[in-house]
Amino acid sequence: MKITGQLTIEDLPRICPRLCRQTNPQYGEDQTRVVEVGGVRFGNGRPIVIGGPCAVENHDQTMSVARAVKRAGGDMLRGGAYKPRTSPHDFQGTGVEGLCILRIAREETGLPIVTEVMDTRMVEQVAGYADMLQIGSRNMQNYSLLAEVGRSGKPVLLKRGMAASLCEWLGAAEYIAKQGNLNIVLCERGIKAFAAGEYSRFILDLNVIPAVLANTFLPVIVDPSHATGVASMVEPASRAALEFGSHGLMIEVADFAIGRPRCDADQAIDGETLARIVKFARSHHERMLFAEAAA
Ligand code: PEP
Ligand code: MN
Repeated sequence: MKITGQLTIEDLPRICPRLCRQTNPQYGEDQTRVVEVGGVRFGNGRPIVIGGPCAVENHDQTMSVARAVKRAGGDMLRGGAYKPRTSPHDFQGTGVEGLCILRIAREETGLPIVTEVMDTRMVEQVAGYADMLQIGSRNMQNYSLLAEVGRSGKPVLLKRGMAASLCEWLGAAEYIAKQGNLNIVLCERGIKAFAAGEYSRFILDLNVIPAVLANTFLPVIVDPSHATGVASMVEPASRAALEFGSHGLMIEVADFAIGRPRCDADQAIDGETLARIVKFARSHHERMLFAEAAA
């Protein structure tokens, strides 16, 4: 008996015909659609590393972290101007002031910007500053927001809902694609599972990466920061993600000399650790190229 609403991988051609491999044979079994964001190319083989603060708190903090990301060899800058917080009494971000700071950081470093948009009414504003719009885990199934970012025509970073199946995640991506916008990068960021919270914030579901690669041509990256919630786990989780075939990483970085971050301080790494991760990502890519040439 198949229970109504229970989805399996076999349902993907119906759920997301614009995005799944079965209905798009031009991508074959393993080709990826390259998504370009301000000259950065996701899915062309070279892993993309996005670094930056959890939240854009102020000019000095953001500039300091942006410079550290640039020095480390990162490809893009992240940072939330609008923050989805568990309590409405917690710091909610700096809003349009934060967007202006991100613009300044891009001008100085040349790094394209990805930042979260949480509300349909804000899409036009955020799209005016960002190179890529981030849909956060909590909004993955906000279908009107997905349609609106689809209509904006901007590249979208679609984070996986913390309790979303692969079918639900790809179904969410299809809402963006249905508006004619296929510039979508998926981002695994950890899921709720029975042990989540005991020794890590979420459970990093690396098993989903090969499943994503097998079922859609969209690029997929991993956020080891929110997935673990523990700074010391971020570097090994990054290496593991690349070994599982991730097209890139999104990592929270802080400059503790400037001050402790107002959100997610326990998972933030410093610029030197980021530099080691970037170095690993580059050498991993070279090893893959070498292995391909030798085969
Ligand atoms: C973030 O990346 O800023 C964020 C809030 O993450 P998530 O939506 O995955 O919780
Ligand atoms: Mn965060």
